[in-house]
Parts: sequence; structure tokens; C-alpha cells
Amino acid sequence: MLENKIRNIPVGRPSVGAREEAAVLGVLRSGWLTRGPWVSEFEAALCAYTGARHAIVVSSGTAGLHLACLAAGLSNGTRCWTTPVSFAATANAPMLCGAEIDFVDVDPRTANMDLDLLAKRLSIAESHGTLPHVVLPVHFAGQPVDMGKLRSLADRYKFRVIEDAAHTFGATDSGLPVGNCTHSDFCVLSFHGLKTITTGEGGAVLTNDDRLAEQVRRLRHNGLSRDRATYREDLGPWAFEQQSLGFNYWLSDIACSIGIVQLERIEEFLERRRVLVAEYERLLAHVPHVRLAQRPGVASANHLFVICLDFESLGLTRVELFDRMKQRGVALQVHYVPFPAQPFYQDRGFRMSDFPGATKYYAEAISLPLYVDLSFEDLAHVCASLSECLGVNV
Ligand SMILES: *Cc1c(COP(=O)(O)O)cnc(C)c1O
Repeated sequence: MLENKIRNIPVGRPSVGAREEAAVLGVLRSGWLTRGPWVSEFEAALCAYTGARHAIVVSSGTAGLHLACLAAGLSNGTRCWTTPVSFAATANAPMLCGAEIDFVDVDPRTANMDLDLLAKRLSIAESHGTLPHVVLPVHFAGQPVDMGKLRSLADRYKFRVIEDAAHTFGATDSGLPVGNCTHSDFCVLSFHGLKTITTGEGGAVLTNDDRLAEQVRRLRHNGLSRDRATYREDLGPWAFEQQSLGFNYWLSDIACSIGIVQLERIEEFLERRRVLVAEYERLLAHVPHVRLAQRPGVASANHLFVICLDFESLGLTRVELFDRMKQRGVALQVHYVPFPAQPFYQDRGFRMSDFPGATKYYAEAISLPLYVDLSFEDLAHVCASLSECLGVNV
């Protein structure tokens, strides 16, 4: 009996199989475990896929954001503006560099940074002499921010742009793949287990700027430069010159070998996500909900399937919905608690009342399960359960 089957449907799950297993075994048997040929091969594949000149793989998306922020010049006394609705890493990275953080509210229809509001805020900041050094947009849930529009603001107000594309690897905007860096200084990817492709933990920094790329490589490698052309002294054929402080943010060859296979499968992943989203739309037609709006010309990476519900008119709370869905074996999530609602940021003077867009989005949003190996049967169960819990007749 279908109804009695015990289900346990998570919000997300990685899709790895026999090819990834074989790739890992190949590395383990090769004698290289790190800083070897799979690193360069994965980086070259990322460049080929995105069109970026440089790809520097790192141990996580967070590490990638940290290095991009440092290379973009964030330090004590600088300012970085980002979105109030994102994963902790987005705001941690600039703050770890010593930068002062501020948030530009989202458009609640897309949960992406509101670029008209950004334009207004920039013009005010210009008159106060408080322009940001870096603007860090997040391409939310799979849909890129309008980078052409952001570029024209960056040109006018002279800030650097770092794209947080952790949700959006594989998306295109007017045919241009996310990660090509045409309109930004850096684009940062995450290969965490639930992202478009995974290496376990992992990430990458993409850029078209040779100098910035070299800086990121050096920061990944404890401040040691591999670019002999930039050395002040020749300390010997054995020596890498230390040119700054740095970190060990390398990604292992084991991880990169998984990434190479995953990148070969990316079209299959993106197509499957598209099909699942279309199926959700079909089965949820009778449920009163609002989807995040999509800009024309954009092919989303469909990282998250977010729906917005008017809980007040539905007569139940989101906590009750989470609970009832859990009883039916379905996990839900809310992406994310906005930064200004976190005690850490409240202690720094931020208040949700200053972010009406984030407030509206956060009051209504839930993420339904979406991952490559989600079956149509499980998806139908999610939709039937949701109708039931909301008291909506099919
Ligand atoms: C996943 C994620 C990150 C961080 O990536 P990690 O690889 O987990 O460090 C950053 N920003 C956003 C929006 C993310 O979803």
C-alpha cells in the first residue's frame, strides 16, 4: 500500500554513484592525494564550462568567499554590502576580513537583492562619503541577479563585485553562464553536498583578472607564491617566496576527481531539476501559493524550490506545517533566517524592521524537497501531504 509506506524525504541529497566511486579509487591508487593533476584538470574544466579565465578550487565555498573578499581589498575600515537573506558564510567572509557589513534589502518576489534600492542607497552613500568597497550579491535559489544592471552601478560608483553563486552554478542569463565573470571581479561557487555539483566539501573562485587570480592562489597556499615572475629575490630552485600571510584552503585531488565527474553530469542534473520543478508546478496548481518570480532570459539552476504561503489566511503556523509534514515523512526548510533576525547581528544594531522585503519573504517562505534523485512518487507524496496539511481539497 502506497499510503502506508514509511517515507523519509529530505530537503536535499547529493547524487553520487559508480563513476564518482571509480574516480576516487583512481586517485587513491595513483600516489597523488593533493595538489596533483586532478586539481588542475578540475580547474580547467570549470574554466571551460563557465568561460572564466581562472578557476581556483578551494576547500569550501566559505573559503572561496573569504579569499575573494581579501583579494578584493576588504580589510579594517572598508565597507561591504550584501543581502540580508543568505547563508551565514556570505556575511561572515567580509567580516572576517575586518570589513564593516551592511545589508541591502531583497525584493520579496525573487529574494534577490533589490537593485533599484541599491541604486538609491549608493547615491545617498556617495553624498555621505560612505560608498561600499565591495557589493556581494547572492544569486538566490538558482536565479542570478541582473549582473548587467549591477555592473553599470559598479562602474559608476567604483566598487568591486563578488558574486556568491553557491546556489546558482549551471544557471545562465541571456545565454551567459553564471561564473563567466563578465560583470564581476569574482564569482564564488560551492561544492557542498547539496549544491548543483558536489565534491563533498569544496568550492571555487572564478575571475578573469590575472593579478587577482594570482593573489587568490597565493592566499590559498599560505601566502607562498608560485609565480616566479613576481619574486623579489631568487631564494633558490627549492623556494616559494612568501609574499603575504595566507591559509591552507586547498581542495584535495580526491575531492577534485569527484568534481570532474560531477561536472560531466551537470546537464543531466540541471535537466532533472527542471523536470521536477515543472512537476511541482503541475501538482501544486490547486494550492494557493506564490513562487519566486523568474526574470525573463534566465535559466535557473533550480537549487531550491521555494514557495511562499500566506499562513495567516491558511489558518496555521509554519511550525505546525513543519510538524505535520514531518509526521508524513517530509522534511521542509526555511532558507534562511535573515541576518538582521540573528542575535549576532541584532547585537550590531541591525533590526528586521529596516528590511521590509526580507521580513515579507521570511514570513512566507518554505523550501520543499528538491534533489536530483527525488522520485516522482515521492514528489507526489510531498504535494499530497502539503494539500492535506493545508486543508486544501484536491
Ligand atoms: C552553501 C553556501 C555557501 C557556502 O558554501 P560552503 O561550501 O558550504 O562553505 C555560501 N553562500 C551560500 C548562499 C550558500 O548556500
